[in-house]
Amino acid sequence: MGFGLFGKKAQTPSGSSLKPGGLTVSSRFLKDERLSSDFILGAIDDGVVMFDRAKMVHLFNRAASELTGWAPNEAVGMDFTQVLPLTDAKGNPIRPEEHPFIQSLISGKPVRSNEFVLNSKSGKQFSVSIVVSPVIEHEGHPSETAVAVFRDITTEKAQEEQRSDFISTASHEMRTPIAAIEGYLSLALNEKITKLDPNARSYLEKARASTQHLGMLFQDLLTSSKAEDGRLASNPSVVEMGEIVEQVTETARFKAKEKGLDLKFVVSSDHEVNGGKVIRPFYYCFVDPIRINEVFQNLIDNAVKYTPEGSVTVKLTGDIDTVQVQILDTGSGIPSEDIPHLFQKFYRVDNTATRTIGGTGLGLFICKKIVELYNGRIWVESQLGKGSTFFVNLPRLTAEQALDMQKTQSSVISPNTGA
Ligand code: ADP
Repeated sequence: MGFGLFGKKAQTPSGSSLKPGGLTVSSRFLKDERLSSDFILGAIDDGVVMFDRAKMVHLFNRAASELTGWAPNEAVGMDFTQVLPLTDAKGNPIRPEEHPFIQSLISGKPVRSNEFVLNSKSGKQFSVSIVVSPVIEHEGHPSETAVAVFRDITTEKAQEEQRSDFISTASHEMRTPIAAIEGYLSLALNEKITKLDPNARSYLEKARASTQHLGMLFQDLLTSSKAEDGRLASNPSVVEMGEIVEQVTETARFKAKEKGLDLKFVVSSDHEVNGGKVIRPFYYCFVDPIRINEVFQNLIDNAVKYTPEGSVTVKLTGDIDTVQVQILDTGSGIPSEDIPHLFQKFYRVDNTATRTIGGTGLGLFICKKIVELYNGRIWVESQLGKGSTFFVNLPRLTAEQALDMQKTQSSVISPNTGA
């Protein structure tokens, strides 16, 4: 092929051969001419395309040709933006720096995406899953070449949408009867209305707690399906994060105390210490207070939930353009292999500690969606057995910006849509 990908081989003890690039092949592979890399690339049912920094296509397999409508001999030598024109999910052309091929070449790292729509030669449009991997020619040098593998995921996307619609409708419909059951249970438990023997009261209290849990579960399902397709209602306003985070911390104090945990709220100052007294800075952000409340409530609840003993500390800090909230715990910690998946929908760490603790695996997914709604970032650092720290960064407003925005805000009455 002439790109140095499948070059000289080195023998390994078992009779298999380790080729440059980390590929190991058997001796049968080496002897059988039909198993050459060209045949394999031709047999792969996903589109495979190789290109360089000048955007020129150098390799185009059979599946790539079937998907795009460009014959391999037409595609090779052309600009990849012509052969594989991508748009966003709404059909808008993407900026050059957003193209996953370019991103991968610039960063020197693999890039994966399921978000783009590919336009074929005849104008057919379909959603594609793309994985772009730079080919490392010399360690430590930016790569000149990259390989992309892509496939049509239109059917999967449609099924995902149907599933999300179903979850959204079902959870919305089920909230009404659950609210009714909860209401009647509260009436039954009201001492002014009914007389109950202690056993009956204890059963009804348990039933009410489970109904409340079910109601929260459906609320989470509804929020997550809305977050997924960008329908999450948000009414942002100027918010002082210190106030919000302190309030949320206070609401978790009862649960923390019940478990014997020490719950602390710390604000670090970027201001001068004045006469021995630290001036607490104001950390302003433009976010929906209800939504952002949800994020910190979830993170603090989790910290309390997954910490059998020790402490939970909520720290507020920031610099000129960022507000950072850290939630530190001395709990079970998270295995490193689970960390990359933690913010995915329904993901729960499967170990004895977490198996006994109830949850849906939706909380962190919702947190991430909300934080990203405000151009923020959420991530975690953790050590198994020692504890975890969840970080949330949000864009910070200067006091002047906050004041200006507050002035315009008070002169505009915004409709409250709620989710
Ligand atoms: P849930 O808590 O309902 O299972 P989340 O999405 O909030 O769902 O969290 C996903 C998983 O991440 C949890 O099941 C748990 O395994 C892990 N996790 C979250 N927060 C912590 C924490 N502070 N310490 C240890 N594990 C955690």
